[in-house]
Amino acid sequence: MKRSGLAVIALLFIAATLGAQVPGVDQATIARIRGEAITNSQAMETHWWLSEAIGPRATGTPGYQAGADWVMKKFAEWGLANIHIERFPFGQGWSIDRFSAHLLTPNAAPLIGMPRWYSPSTKGTITSDVVYVKAASEAELAKYKGQLTGKIVILQAARPVRMLQGRIVLEMTEADWAEAMKLPDPKPAASPASPASPASPASSAPPMTPQQFAALLQRFLVAEGVAAVLDRGSDTDMSAGGSDLSWQTQRVDGGTIFPGNGGSRDPKAPQQVPSATLAVEHYNRLVRLIEHGQPVRMELNIQTRFHPETDPAGHAFNIIADIPGSDLADQVVILGAHFDTYPYATGATDNTTGSTAMIEAVRVIQQLGLKPRRTIRVALWAAEEQGLIGSREYVARHYWDAKTSTPKPAHANVQAYFNLDNGTGRIRGIWGQNNTGAMKSFEQWGVALKDLGWRSVSPRSVTSTDHGSFDNAGLPGFQFIQERLEYNSRTHHSNMDTYDHVQKDDVIQQGAVAAVFAWYAANTSERLPRKPLAK
Ligand SMILES: [Zn+2]
Repeated sequence: MKRSGLAVIALLFIAATLGAQVPGVDQATIARIRGEAITNSQAMETHWWLSEAIGPRATGTPGYQAGADWVMKKFAEWGLANIHIERFPFGQGWSIDRFSAHLLTPNAAPLIGMPRWYSPSTKGTITSDVVYVKAASEAELAKYKGQLTGKIVILQAARPVRMLQGRIVLEMTEADWAEAMKLPDPKPAASPASPASPASPASSAPPMTPQQFAALLQRFLVAEGVAAVLDRGSDTDMSAGGSDLSWQTQRVDGGTIFPGNGGSRDPKAPQQVPSATLAVEHYNRLVRLIEHGQPVRMELNIQTRFHPETDPAGHAFNIIADIPGSDLADQVVILGAHFDTYPYATGATDNTTGSTAMIEAVRVIQQLGLKPRRTIRVALWAAEEQGLIGSREYVARHYWDAKTSTPKPAHANVQAYFNLDNGTGRIRGIWGQNNTGAMKSFEQWGVALKDLGWRSVSPRSVTSTDHGSFDNAGLPGFQFIQERLEYNSRTHHSNMDTYDHVQKDDVIQQGAVAAVFAWYAANTSERLPRKPLAK
């Protein structure tokens, strides 16, 4: 079914007549929406401007602002209503100005790497020996006292690099699909508590947690005047497919890196040593050279920029625009996706694809001059990557009073929230979040999308993206089921989240599915059932 673009177009009008009868929704309109979304798609053009022309859109950076300016201008051109931003406090933003790493001894060699998120800058281009610090405790660390000033430090052992033998591209097999379609097995009951082991007389102080040791290590490195720390990222090359499923893919290595945090958006947080993540193959060589007693010298330049929060209303903002409804205009169907990205590439699959699909869906409906009964709203969130902050702020502002744990009046007016945030792959269905009433409607709506690769609705509840902010507040919030493809093996939060890894036909399909779902939700004569509010 994938990437059979022409066949899809040929089937377009036949299939559209096969949609289920949904009271209030005219199948001819569904056919027109599909036609505009497939044959006149602007999705890849929108995607290119946001990803490649503008670049990364990390929250609190000029890149995010530039992306917002571009998309709001488009919304205005298309005649959307209520175009505005909603600010919230975030902290400082961070972007990369320059990065270079070169091995000097034993031979000159450029190294692949990226500064860690929120790393401070080195003092210009530095040249230094590399020291391998092997310390798992405060006592072991103390041995290095006075030896690290001005040095480039590495802390991790080499990690074996495997051939690409495992699963790399996650296209759902029938077994994967079967797992996705059923509720997770109940967690095994906790085994009866084992008798407490007798306290060892040697351990007078409780052992440190890994977090406590990491904080102690960072304080030590700062105090010793270390020039920079280099790492190679995770200890494993396996990556979960997400949505609490057992699917795993092998990460590709080979220059693809997944840097972690090297500082904080809180300007008052303790200072850290400048840090960067190197490609594992390049990092491993440093370790092996040092373990063979060979001197290792490097030249390193990390130049990063902090963007202070100067706006009293906050540094981060969500972007909102509406297609106003008619007789049910107070009720709203929200199409949402996070607009912020990681700083390492162009955010092509996380989440320019999801944002593009939702932007395209409102373009399609507006282009056709269609007037929905309920208001269709597009919401592009900031600061998802820091913990769904933008969508949570929106829900708190409009729908849910966190102080009293009670719904606000507008809570009753949300017909549905639909989210997209799992990369470039085709939409196969939707996670039902245990809302059996809504799932029945989605099964009916999906009939009109079967020829585009739609399969079914899963009862599972999934987490970790912005529909969760709605679901947690008792609102009907949902995330579409997507093919993960290379999302977890290559692009998600890496330096290779680029346009070249975007699957064009799949992104076009995403826009079509979002537009069709928005239209059903906005026009059906029924309110989408809700789960009972958790007490
Ligand atoms: Zn994302």
